[in-house]
Amino acid sequence: MQRPPFSQALKNGVRFRCPNCGDGGLFSSFFKIRDECPVCGLSFYPESGYYAGAMYLDYALAAGVFLAVFIPSLFLPDFLHLSYLQKNILWVIFGTLLCLGFARPSYSLWLAIDYWISPWKARRMQKAHSNGEILEVPLVSMIIRTDQVDYRHGTHSPDE
Ligand SMILES: [Zn+2]
Repeated sequence: MQRPPFSQALKNGVRFRCPNCGDGGLFSSFFKIRDECPVCGLSFYPESGYYAGAMYLDYALAAGVFLAVFIPSLFLPDFLHLSYLQKNILWVIFGTLLCLGFARPSYSLWLAIDYWISPWKARRMQKAHSNGEILEVPLVSMIIRTDQVDYRHGTHSPDE
């Protein structure tokens, strides 16, 4: 299997596109990732708990930007004259918005980079879609699958 250039993988990632065909959209709503690509059928949930790492990426990016704004702000003169409580509330809102804002890019890039490192096969022609129940909590994106099918192994053809 020919590995596409990393820049292509990143491009699909920032555009929220399928890492396999670059065409199918990743999200069915703002925070909900589709089960599989609507165009090529690639599973967007190759294993259970797949996006746990993406959550850490989200927090890391949000924390990085938060600190980059928060620390310099400590040295600014207090021209808004807000109370301690008001400032705290604003910072919490700012941090929450950062987490929400980085959520989609984090999940998308997580999938794009992981797929680039070790791609798995699209299952366009396979009707055997798992019957495992998928419980999704948007925002937190906790994915709990009752089945433990690992599509990454066992579906490889000899030409890979
Ligand atoms: Zn696709």
